[in-house]
Amino acid sequence: MALKVNEIFYSIQGESSYAGRPCVFVRLTGCNLRCSYCDTQYAYDGGDLMEIGDVLKRVASYKCPLVEVTGGEPLIQKETPYLIHSLLEAGHEVLLETNGSQDIRQVDERCVKIMDIKCPTSGEEGKSDLKNLALLADTDEIKFVIGDRGDYDYAKRVLNSMDLKSVPISRVHFSPVFGKMDPGLLTKWLLEDHLDVRIHLQLHKIIWDPEKRGV
Ligand code: SF4
Repeated sequence: MALKVNEIFYSIQGESSYAGRPCVFVRLTGCNLRCSYCDTQYAYDGGDLMEIGDVLKRVASYKCPLVEVTGGEPLIQKETPYLIHSLLEAGHEVLLETNGSQDIRQVDERCVKIMDIKCPTSGEEGKSDLKNLALLADTDEIKFVIGDRGDYDYAKRVLNSMDLKSVPISRVHFSPVFGKMDPGLLTKWLLEDHLDVRIHLQLHKIIWDPEKRGV
């Protein structure tokens, strides 16, 4: 069984509660959305067909327990749930970064799903299927990428309207759009509202050149 792989690389996890840990990234090709701030447009196409066994061998070569399957949108390839299952069976901790537009029930429950809920400035508001929120486990995470005050208010409204019984609020992340949203201002809003979510900055863009690929 094969899937289209854009790149595989070893770096630092930068966008979740796992931020700061060494991680192997398996970036799959293709995305069904076109977010205004997308920093992985190169993953919309290109890449190579790889057998899942070869992906596992490549991942194993990095000797790293943590693996993130990302994109693009990984779940638009029907083989992705099998890749995730195979990585778990090989003993890895597996994270899945998804834009929430696809049904997450197909994903092994041992995988940590990081669901990115699209806010208005993404240009893709409404594309994340909020029904997926009810399917998240207490080990899963939710991310809002915030570009302005409108996005912030939107994220607050979604949080207020959703059942957060399963996902702890500490696993909800507000991430400022890099180079557009002032992280200090976003932090000020959070503190003013006593919103107990986690602000997170894209660590890899602070450590390395923000334009650099494969980090
Ligand atoms: S969902 Fe992610 S990969 Fe797809 S366009 Fe949006 S930011 Fe880019």
